[in-house]
Amino acid sequence: MSKRKITIAIDGYSSCGKSTIARDIAARMHYNYVDTGAMYRAVTLYCLRNGLINGKELDLEGLIDELDQVFIEFNFNQETLASEILLNGENVEQYIRQMDVNDWVSQVSAVGEVRRKMVKIQQELGKGKGIAMDGRDIGTTVFPDAELKLFMTADINIRAQRRIDELESKQIAASFEEVKENLIQRDFEDMNRIESPLRKAQDAIILDNSNLTQPQQLEFALNLIQQLL
Ligand code: C5P
Repeated sequence: MSKRKITIAIDGYSSCGKSTIARDIAARMHYNYVDTGAMYRAVTLYCLRNGLINGKELDLEGLIDELDQVFIEFNFNQETLASEILLNGENVEQYIRQMDVNDWVSQVSAVGEVRRKMVKIQQELGKGKGIAMDGRDIGTTVFPDAELKLFMTADINIRAQRRIDELESKQIAASFEEVKENLIQRDFEDMNRIESPLRKAQDAIILDNSNLTQPQQLEFALNLIQQLL
């Protein structure tokens, strides 16, 4: 395979398997993989832990004030070969998929100051290319010049079941209806926010993986990459 490295931007709706395909591509290509959703989730966890979310309100001013005290970075775990998200130095992987984070992350990620801070980190992580990054605005805002852009979608019931399976594997309890409702709500908020809403970039290729297996969707992406290299 060619030595030329490219940038691969993967966007799409919640729980479409964006992280799975991004991770698989990165492993196959020896690229770095960045899950940008984990970054917004870690900021949300910070808000929940520090009294910036009280009942039904996000303390917007408080969040903007404290944002320079929120440090988000990734650590590559040599044992599990996975990259883990650190919030102010603490590995918070096990907390960021919980339902309270799910319930608030779209509101936190709609805050312009939060987005600008995260996008800067993401651009820095990808500046050497050789990266597969997944999120909502990677092909539109973070890397508008990415050589390959995928926009992922899948049937909502299939997506909800996949999320349930993922939560079960992490021993987090949630009902199908609760999870489905959360996905619909997050997609709505992500598509309708002012700052970098979830949109398909004009030059993105749609990948509907409702009826594809994990190896099949990887093959689809690898074929596209092969053509580019
Ligand atoms: O990908 P994941 O479901 O973990 O993302 C969680 C939330 O983070 C999304 O629902 C969205 O609100 C936000 N997000 C975002 N921009 C990204 C990645 C995630 O706004 N690039």
